[in-house]
Amino acid sequence: MTEPSLYPCFLGPYGENDALLERLVVEFLRDHVYWRRNLYPEDPPAIPTRAAQQPAFQEFEARLRRELHTLSASLKRSVPFHSPRYLGHMVSDLLLPGLAAQILALPYNPNNVSDEAAPVTIDLEIKVGLQLARLLGYVSDPEQDGCAFGHLTSGGTLANFQALRLALALKCFPVALRAAAPPGMSIPEDDMQAFRLTPAQAIDLLVGWQGWLSALEPQDRVCWRKKLEAERIEQLGGVRFFATHPELAPPVVLAPVTAHYSWSKGMKMLGLGREQLVLIPERGMRLDITAFEQTLRDLDAAGASPLLAVAVFGTTEFGTIDPVHELVALRERRAAQGKGFAIHVDAAWGGYLATLFRQEDGTLRSLQSMRAEFTSFPSANTHAAMAALGQADSITVDPHKLGYLAYGAGAFVCRDHRAMELLTETADYVFTGAAPSGYFNRYRKLGQYIPEGSKSGAAAAAVYVTHRVLPLDHTHFGQLVRQTIRATEAFVARAEQFAREMRSRLRVCVPYPPDSNLVCIAANPAGNLDVTVANAFMRQIHGAMSMDSPVPLVPLQNREFFGSTTTLREEILGTQDMHRILDELGLDTCSMRADDPRSDRLLILRHTLMNPFIIDDENGISYIDRYFEYLSRRVALLLPAKPSSSTT
Ligand SMILES: *Cc1c(COP(=O)(O)O)cnc(C)c1O
Repeated sequence: MTEPSLYPCFLGPYGENDALLERLVVEFLRDHVYWRRNLYPEDPPAIPTRAAQQPAFQEFEARLRRELHTLSASLKRSVPFHSPRYLGHMVSDLLLPGLAAQILALPYNPNNVSDEAAPVTIDLEIKVGLQLARLLGYVSDPEQDGCAFGHLTSGGTLANFQALRLALALKCFPVALRAAAPPGMSIPEDDMQAFRLTPAQAIDLLVGWQGWLSALEPQDRVCWRKKLEAERIEQLGGVRFFATHPELAPPVVLAPVTAHYSWSKGMKMLGLGREQLVLIPERGMRLDITAFEQTLRDLDAAGASPLLAVAVFGTTEFGTIDPVHELVALRERRAAQGKGFAIHVDAAWGGYLATLFRQEDGTLRSLQSMRAEFTSFPSANTHAAMAALGQADSITVDPHKLGYLAYGAGAFVCRDHRAMELLTETADYVFTGAAPSGYFNRYRKLGQYIPEGSKSGAAAAAVYVTHRVLPLDHTHFGQLVRQTIRATEAFVARAEQFAREMRSRLRVCVPYPPDSNLVCIAANPAGNLDVTVANAFMRQIHGAMSMDSPVPLVPLQNREFFGSTTTLREEILGTQDMHRILDELGLDTCSMRADDPRSDRLLILRHTLMNPFIIDDENGISYIDRYFEYLSRRVALLLPAKPSSSTT
């Protein structure tokens, strides 16, 4: 079942492709050395050729080797992400093209803060932004006015933070413009109206303002620009901005209860405050659009304005996909009433799923043609949500998650790059007169726009090369995703079989059908009614599948499999779904008690199936079968067959 095209993609569970990686590393390390030697061949070596014979040199090398051996030895206690037995968090083996490109680029040490420190890799990062834009359904031709823009971040957390920053800047800019009151420009009538423009309207206003400025004499331009800057929230800070505009209430961010905790962090970092983050309940594990609409009405009544609505494309805990299309439709309805807000899709986890939905020419594959490849993937909701991604105002996607790249590579992509102007730190060209023209020229001073300063150009090279070797469509990168979705469907089928086999001893269920390659399993000893007991049992099951911390004491091999856990809570699932699952497990709904930390939630196993070799045809091994056989053994050990069915 493994596509032969995937064989060269990874170092491999056994290190099968060691010769390939070694050749590449050695070849390009030498290549780097020759570059140094041939750049200024007239400069002789500064380190004497005899240096290596000196005692101090040898002592240094001995110390270095000792430390490296220690490091290397201790790293053997790392989590074996590369193994098909690793069915835990959102991480797997690294794609070889990215790994090789990153190792290749490291000795050049490019700093993607600006083109002066990274003349080559800065362009690669801007191109990565365009590659991701195309994947997600945005305009990705820099010649077009409303082209998208994307850049890398240290991770999804910072990408989400960037989304908040941009949404706030777009929300408050029209208000500042009103306050600056440039004569002759058509601006919103009152603060409330200005505050409720859609991101697209705010961008139009920004473009209008830039046009207005460009018609001025240079000194006037500087003067007006300063005048506007003095009114902006970025200059005044939230406290003074809202004190200056008393009819405006600080804006609210709406996100589903399943949202990643980076949203809470972001609200704190921006000074908006955690209280301004309103969590919307889910229904059937997906964002409840009716509840969303009701919250908007409540906010209306309270005179508050939403800043940003977040939908999650692949939740961190459950891998579920929110109905982005429904949220987009809602945004349009609200915009028509003069109540604009931005939509951000947090696709940190699920973004690369989109590769499976794209034809080589960038168009979307039909639901039917995709269904032909799977048992039930994708659901109609998933397909529609994917199709609507291009209408979100911004998107987070993590190359270091489902992109199989090394850590330090998240990405933020916004629909219309012109909005980015609002995030610039200092607009030096204001004082020199000429704004850099052209898309690439503008973003080569990347440090002006991003939350970070110095950042890895080698990481950008890794993402770029990966996207070139494995283009982001279903016949290339998508093959990898296809493999993992098939493994997920096989996993679900096997879990159902397991549930039937174990019925006399253990009640097992897959609490909801997975939207992606993340599956959860809930279980409860047969006859037990009490959530506390079920949780204790699941903790024991998981204990043997998790790493001890801080440092594993038992040999790694003692862990036959690795899994992770999460919990089901009533406030996330809703009462109906929570009760359905408790019923399926034979648990008494009354034993789930909000006031008791041992039973206010249900502990379940969470498995991310990213490894493409989980079903190993080469050797006729299914690690899925092996996993469930392992679980059976564990259950038999923990729940020896009893004459009576009562366990409590
Ligand atoms: C992982 C994740 C994040 C955070 O990304 P980091 O790269 O860990 O900072 C944010 N949102 C979602 C949905 C995620 O899965």
